[in-house]
Amino acid sequence: MANEDILKKIISHCKEYGFVFQSSEIYDGLSAVYDYGQNGAELKNNIRQYWWAAMTQLNENIVGLDSAIFMHPTTWKASGHVDAFSDPLIDNKDSKKRYRADVLLEEYIQKIEDKVNKEVEKAAKRFGEKFDEKMYRETNPRILENSKKIDGVNLRMKAALESNNLSDIKLLIEECEIVCPVSGSRNWTEVRQFNLMFATEMGATADGSSKVYLRPETAQGIFVNFLNVQKTGRMKIPFGIAQTGKAFRNEIVARQFIFRMREFEQMEMQFFIKPGTEMQWYNHWKEKRLKWHLAMGIPENKYRFHDHLKLAHYANAACDIEFDFPMGFKELEGIHSRTDFDLGNHEKHSGKKLQYFDTEENKSFVPYVVETSIGLDRMFLAIISQSFCEEKVVSGENGEEAGERVVLKLPPFLAPVKVAVLPLIKKDGLPEKARIIMDSLKFDFRCYYEEKDTIGKRYRRMDAIGTPFCITIDHQTLLDNTVTLRYRDSMKQERISTDGIGEIIKDKVSLKQVLSRL
Ligand code: ATP
Repeated sequence: MANEDILKKIISHCKEYGFVFQSSEIYDGLSAVYDYGQNGAELKNNIRQYWWAAMTQLNENIVGLDSAIFMHPTTWKASGHVDAFSDPLIDNKDSKKRYRADVLLEEYIQKIEDKVNKEVEKAAKRFGEKFDEKMYRETNPRILENSKKIDGVNLRMKAALESNNLSDIKLLIEECEIVCPVSGSRNWTEVRQFNLMFATEMGATADGSSKVYLRPETAQGIFVNFLNVQKTGRMKIPFGIAQTGKAFRNEIVARQFIFRMREFEQMEMQFFIKPGTEMQWYNHWKEKRLKWHLAMGIPENKYRFHDHLKLAHYANAACDIEFDFPMGFKELEGIHSRTDFDLGNHEKHSGKKLQYFDTEENKSFVPYVVETSIGLDRMFLAIISQSFCEEKVVSGENGEEAGERVVLKLPPFLAPVKVAVLPLIKKDGLPEKARIIMDSLKFDFRCYYEEKDTIGKRYRRMDAIGTPFCITIDHQTLLDNTVTLRYRDSMKQERISTDGIGEIIKDKVSLKQVLSRL
């Protein structure tokens, strides 16, 4: 199935089963803004909780923070966002569509890379076991030519972006003969810079009000509180401050569902260190963060690192952890060595010292920072697309109805509902018995009770929202206190005593067993 079709299916599944809705849908929606429904809110909470626990509970030297969305406007001057938080945009005069100029070039490069990889794959098939990929890539003339083209475009784009040479970016787009995907034409406007911050007014009167921004990242709330937390928490370097919360960016091209939103949530951790140790900590956090992803049971080949060519205005080393989304490999998380850029600039703009006093060396310094920054909504999309599965069900097996099923094979600890409690029929005392079982489980797990429709239909609904366990109560339950426990992924069913259910479920859904893999 084409990747676009998979994304479409995921989007409609998210809507149909209460995960994600278009914001203000009754007014035809608001572009690139989304609401999380009853199941989406739970899944999102569970992802956030996993991140928070991994950061603040497993690391003695990382503490949490919850800073405000509004900040003093000078914050954004100091951070560089007022002057430099912009994207180069270009319009196609025929389709009137707007694009990020750098993204057009990146997509062009990606197409050539895909071509190269296809060629290598074909050769690997042709030559079989004898195939030496490295040698092939280094000697095949077509591949060499394409690699040279990729390097050339990359280098020129990097130089143009760094020197803000917007006319060269346009020239490059023209030389690469990039066409507008909608109109198919090369009728481009000039490239312009567009600031991504949303601004609003704070204060009641026109005279007395001042312009404030909706924060475009949560990180600055951490920097301005650096000394507050360090002093009151008696933190010793190296230490980290973690925060989750909303961020806002007026993205030029906002598409691909919750991948690129105008209002989204970040989970960021700033790690304060001694200058000179940043590469050591940068590598440490690269490794730690990948481990966090893999501990959920997502296969390693779904992830890759991508080193930044164009470093942001604050970084001296930066990479992305990319995920294989339905649209291909794209950024999921960033790991950045931010030097003393932020604290240093806040010192300058506020006139307040933001330094750490090292008692061993008896001197003060502005710490360096290594940051890990992941989008919660992107992580949500990664998890949903990894878990979404359409399967054929074999006739009659375990009493399941034959046909197809859509199942979300979510990591059980993230599932919105952990266990469904289902009386086989609505009478004979089965609902009452089911309620007793539900009452014994609901303090430990999020349960869902349902007595409507056939048991097969109820199983399918639970599969579709990723519920790892279903418990069915039948007439035998009234006699011997046993129930049928059904497993989501294998659809296996077993008869067990009600006494043991809590332990079986706990073993599979607890956050503890995932955290212990870190
Ligand atoms: P991109 O290159 O995709 O615009 P970025 O490099 O600007 O992302 P950062 O500023 O490093 O992103 O933000 C950290 C993380 O926040 C990203 O890795 C991503 O997961 C998330 N993020 C950034 N922008 C958005 C957005 N518009 N919608 C959803 N998540 C986002």
